[in-house]
Amino acid sequence: MATQDTSTSTQLSPEALEGALAPLTAALGDRLLTPPADGFAETAAVFLGGPERIPVAVARVRTTDEVAAVVAVARDANLPLAVRSGGHSFARHGLADGGLVLDMRLMDGIEIDADAGVGHAQGGVLAGTYSTAAGEHGLATGFGDTGTVGITGLALGGGIGYLSRLHGLTADNLLGAEVVLADGRVVQANADENPDLFWALRGGGGNFGVVTRLDLRLRELPVVTGGMVAWPAEPGTLATVLATLAEAPEKLSGMVNVMTAPPLPMLPAEVHGKPIVMALVCFAGPASEAEAVFAPLRALGTVFDGVSEIPYPEMFVAGGPEGGASADARPGFLGEGVWAPDEAWAAAAIEAVSSAQHGLAVVNLRPMGGAIAGVDPAATAFAHRDAAWMVTVQGMALGLDGVPALREWVASTSGTLGVAGRGYVNFMANATPQDVSDAYPEATLARLREVKRAYDPTNLFAANHNVAP
Ligand SMILES: Cc1cc2nc3c(=O)[nH]c(=O)nc-3n(C[C@H](O)[C@H](O)[C@H](O)COP(=O)(O)OP(=O)(O)OC[C@H]3O[C@@H](n4cnc5c(N)ncnc54)[C@H](O)[C@@H]3O)c2cc1C
Repeated sequence: MATQDTSTSTQLSPEALEGALAPLTAALGDRLLTPPADGFAETAAVFLGGPERIPVAVARVRTTDEVAAVVAVARDANLPLAVRSGGHSFARHGLADGGLVLDMRLMDGIEIDADAGVGHAQGGVLAGTYSTAAGEHGLATGFGDTGTVGITGLALGGGIGYLSRLHGLTADNLLGAEVVLADGRVVQANADENPDLFWALRGGGGNFGVVTRLDLRLRELPVVTGGMVAWPAEPGTLATVLATLAEAPEKLSGMVNVMTAPPLPMLPAEVHGKPIVMALVCFAGPASEAEAVFAPLRALGTVFDGVSEIPYPEMFVAGGPEGGASADARPGFLGEGVWAPDEAWAAAAIEAVSSAQHGLAVVNLRPMGGAIAGVDPAATAFAHRDAAWMVTVQGMALGLDGVPALREWVASTSGTLGVAGRGYVNFMANATPQDVSDAYPEATLARLREVKRAYDPTNLFAANHNVAP
């Protein structure tokens, strides 16, 4: 089966390549890195490991004009173009073999307009950095669970995280964006200007242009009650945890991992290496208010309880995960409305994790509902508004030789648990073009294609979960 590997080798001779890159050499100086220059490999690397993909150059841009210059070079020289912010794509889309990488990380400016309740962030800003800046004003925009993820990559796919059930997806809090299009034009996308593009940016991924600025709604959030909590992997416990989260007030969001317990010092040694139910939870309010919500979860008998009242940005400092080799990740949506998997499903998930032989095998569950469900499915390109859970079966290998076994595990487990199909683009790795089509309802996909034809008819922006024009 063909996969969505966007890696291709350039057909250009070394001389032609040098000529094609000359405008960027002049404009960017040592911010255009080509192999084997010092720092090239480190700059080119993305969060997750995998098969080698070596770009011909990495362009570290600082301004919208520089973005437009890189886009022009890729377009005119017919070079594959990868656009990258936080570099956390599960599919490693931030690397184009034989292509040009547009690295947004130096475009990291943030302006918090507390009076207007809007955060303006350049296209390379990371979730943790933005949250710290907003937190200084007692404000927040909801992103995911990891501070080192780029907010642009996250928002373009949807963005499911610690505040989603209360305030919606990151994309639902996007008020506008500045975008450099394939033809070099710089446009605004919001409810009034280019509304079709604005619709597509909220769930359609990086298909339509390079986002150089996001305008995001800010919410008052002086304090949250959250952190990590873990239980033994018992089917009854897991089913009760899931039912409790599904029925919890909208102020509670989070995620549950069924996984092999890592040797973390806060976990008792006897659970290390054994299946465990580990949640990261966030209640958008003080501990006094959260206590009653957490009581049924605590009553189940935790093996670790790190939940406390903290400033919201501290949700991100619990230590990010280590990036291994991404074997596969299959996300799907389960159930509708207020619903949770039953004990038989929970037993199957625990059994599957126990049977995995290599690396890190995880069944990750995120409760949806609340404000996510309050948005009309046609209002944004993220359309899975009725789903009760987003479930991802994920395998992270320690080295490339562990990849085939984990891939098999992901395929069989997602089949057993019924999570294949209707996927979430932000969590897809190793996806086929059919998987990408299946990630969108038919009407959404048709509309995305229309917008793609209007804004990127030659598919210059193809290093993504690609919507063909
Ligand atoms: C450890 C980890 C934790 C995660 N947690 C969550 C979570 O809690 N919730 C959630 O919803 N997702 C989560 N994700 C998935 C994440 O949202 C996606 O992988 C997202 O695409 C990453 O964005 P990035 O900018 O870091 O990645 P990159 O690899 O830099 O970018 C991914 C893609 O986004 C597009 N893109 C990025 N920047 C731009 C730009 N400026 N303009 C145009 N297109 C751009 C490109 O198509 C690019 O290929 C997580 C991923 C990892 C690895």
